Parts: sequence; structure tokens; C-alpha cells
Amino acid sequence: MNVPPDRRERHVRRTKIVATIGPATSDEGTLRELIEAGVNVARLNFSHGTPDEHEAVVRLIRRIAQDMGRSVGILQDLQGPRLRTGTLVRGRPVILVDGDPLVLTTQDWPDGTDEKVWVSHPGLPQDVRPGDRLLIADGVLELEVARSDETDIHTVVVHGGELGERKGINAPNIDVSVVSPTDKDREDLARGVTLGVDHVALSFVRTPEEIEATRDTLRSLGAPQMSIIAKIERAEALENLDAILDVSDGVMLARGDLGVDLGPERVPVIQKAVVHLAAQKRVPVIVATQMLESMIGNRRPTRAEASDVANAVLEGADAVMLSGETSIGAYPVESVETMDRIIREAEWSDEYLEVSRRASAESGSDGQDRKIARAVVSLLADLDATALIVFSPDDQMPRMLSLERPTAPVLAFTDSRALYRRMALLHAVQPQLGVQHDNTDVMLDYMLSEAKERGYIRERDEVVVARLAPHDVDGAPSIISVLRIPQAQLGHRS
Ligand code: PGA
Ligand code: MN
Repeated sequence: MNVPPDRRERHVRRTKIVATIGPATSDEGTLRELIEAGVNVARLNFSHGTPDEHEAVVRLIRRIAQDMGRSVGILQDLQGPRLRTGTLVRGRPVILVDGDPLVLTTQDWPDGTDEKVWVSHPGLPQDVRPGDRLLIADGVLELEVARSDETDIHTVVVHGGELGERKGINAPNIDVSVVSPTDKDREDLARGVTLGVDHVALSFVRTPEEIEATRDTLRSLGAPQMSIIAKIERAEALENLDAILDVSDGVMLARGDLGVDLGPERVPVIQKAVVHLAAQKRVPVIVATQMLESMIGNRRPTRAEASDVANAVLEGADAVMLSGETSIGAYPVESVETMDRIIREAEWSDEYLEVSRRASAESGSDGQDRKIARAVVSLLADLDATALIVFSPDDQMPRMLSLERPTAPVLAFTDSRALYRRMALLHAVQPQLGVQHDNTDVMLDYMLSEAKERGYIRERDEVVVARLAPHDVDGAPSIISVLRIPQAQLGHRS
């Protein structure tokens, strides 16, 4: 329980923070404070806002991050095939009463009432059957399908209440005939590629084919390197989880919609299973939604929320995410600071060391690259080294090292700005922008002196320095050196 002060002070947070940017955080001053507070990846939610608004935020973040010398990734979150209701008369909410009929129509119907509202998916009347349940606004409202015709679904209100405009609809157990990415997603994705976002998240994924289709789209847009994150928020995604993990660069456990689809009581066990399987298959996982929900309106989190964040860390999540807390909340900066503190506290625990050890002991598939990564990470642990300093031509090795759960930060040098930003999401990886030297000795020396300059290492620290190339690409050797930083060597540089 008692952590030496030195260990606390020098601890570099491993678990990354993804924060959703919205009206509460789109101005320069707040964005600067958010990044200062520790945001690693900014999430732009394309279910809301205009493309121009997102573009303005991307430009601001890039400029601020560059000013501050920080690596900040940008995650474009596509809306996906979300079903939603339409607009209402004079924009005012209506009251749905238990037992009353309500028609959902796919015809043009901008003036919705408590009797009839528009629904976004034209094929929905054909997808539903009598007796099916439709959940609106996070499951607060519930409808039962009585019958449907060509364009309309006739329902009865099971649980009524206030219905606002453009509310999300969940259709558990209904095979909705719409796939990800939608036409809107493709348009947004093209915009995202132009803006140079680093990751794209695909909502309501059901099958690996949807990921492949997105990858094809990215290829045709000239951005094959962009990483694709599958949002796990439907029952079908859980059924196909193995295959989805095989083709995704990361997954997000989107507990909001998942909890509506399956019931909140099923989320905790599913979370453990998804985080565990992702770790086994060496795919980064982001745990998302309602992590510090009460901080939307309060300066302090509930104890339950603090436990939720800590537990995600102790389960082995690569990153944790803030949504409403930072996009519309009253305390966005405090939310990030709070999350940062909870993560650190969890990472200082002996239990966390144990979690990391267990993760790397579990073998997934075994390529040469992974064996090298595992050997390097185990060397790091055995030596109780302060840092692993690497240069690799792409993010393949840093990604593998990250997923082997190193016990020290990985300072991953690159001369590519795109890589520098993309690696911000990787657990334990601290991306470092630097120049590349062809001569290996010069390169190793350069990385060492930069690591010292940037405050990661100091005299008498044990460090592992490596130049790692993918094993089978061009026959370039991987070179791994171990050294204790001598006083004299640092003396002449400082
Ligand atoms: P969303 O996804 O915020 O885009 O709905 C996250 C979730 O459903 O949990
Ligand atoms: Mn969702």
C-alpha cells in the first residue's frame, strides 16, 4: 500500500485517456487545459456537430499540441446506423402516455406529435414483427410493435414519458437491415481523411465484414494506414467478437448502447470478458461511457465512479474514455484531472503489477516479432529498468511492446508526425518526435540524450535501448542494448 515517493513522482501514466470534445471544450483555452490535464486522444463525435465545427477543433488541437510539444491523437467517431426519431412540432418535447398508440413513420414528417413521429431508417417497418420492443432515449421510453405496413410502424407505449427531438432508438433482438458504414459515415470518413484524423471508430458494428468494408473505403481514400476501432455496442458484435478482433486495430467497449441493448446488469461481466479476450488477442481496448458521469454536473465523482475507472485499469484496459463529462459537462478539466489521479493510484498498486505480468505471460499467436517484443519486455521487468527507448520505422513494434504490458514507459521515437500522433493511444507508449540517424550507434546515443533532456531518465537509471525492425522485412537486425546511465555521460550533455 505504501508506494515510495520517488516511484510515485517518476511514474508515467500507462493507461491512456480519451476525451470527447464538444460544446463545453471546443475553445482554445479549454482545449489547452484539457491537454495539459492529460488527454492523450481527443474524440470527435460525428453524431453531433457540423463538419466545419469538427474541422475547427482538429486545427486547434493540432496547433496547441504542437505548441506544447505533446502527442495528441484524434479519434473520429462515426455515427453508424443509429436509429433515431425525428423533429417535433415547434421543437417542443411531447409526452407519451402508457397504453397509448404511437406511429413511427418513415415518410417525411417533420412535425412530430405524441401520435406520430418520424424514424430514420426506411427499412425498419419491414424489419420489425408484432411483439418486438423498441427502446428510445437510452431505454427510458419503451414501445411495443403492434403491426407495420410499407412505411409505418404502429406501436403501443409500454413505458411513457417525455420524448424530445432526435432521440436514439435501440432495437434489441431485431435484425435491423442497415449496415456500417452508412452513406453519412462514408462522407464523414472522407472529411476525416482530409483532416488527417488518426483513428476512426465504427459504431454499431455487427460483423468483421463491416470493418473490412471500412478498410476498403480508407484504401480508396488513400489512407490505408488509419487505425479502425470497432465499437462493441450490440449483441451481434459480441457473438462475432473473435472475428471482429481479428480485423480491427482496436475495440471500444461502448457501454452506453450495449447497456440499453442487453440490460445494464450484463455490462460488468461482458466488460471483463471483452477486455480479457482483447488482451489475449493483443488488440487495444478502450472502456467507454459514464465512467465519471456525475461529474457532468459535480466537481467530484461518486465513489462508485472512482471504482469503475480503477477497475477498468486493473482489468487491463489500454484506455478509458470520457464522453458527456468533457463534451457538455460543467467540469471538463476537473474530469480529466480526476481520471488521471484515479488511474495513477491504480497503477501504483501491486495488483496492477500482477495484472501486467499476467497479461504478458498469456501467449497469443506467436510470430517472430512478438517473441522479440516479449523478450524485450521481460528483460525490462527483470532489470527493473526505468525506461525502454526504441526506434522503429513504423508503429508495429511499439504496438506489440505496448500489448506485452511493459513495466516501464516505452519512449517510441519516430520522425513521422502521423506516427507520433497515432501512437498516443498505445498503452505505456510515450511517443517522441525526433530525427532519424542511419548509423545505429549515433541513433542510440541520440535517443538516450533526448530521453534525458525530456526528463524521462537520469543518472544511475537502468535503461533498455533498442532499434527494432520488423523481423522479416528487409533483414535489418534488431539491436538491443542495456545500460546504466553513467554520471559522466550525462554530465557533459547537461
Ligand atoms: P456513443 O457510443 O457515445 O457514440 O453512443 C458510446 C456508447 O454507446 O457507449
Ligand atoms: Mn453508442
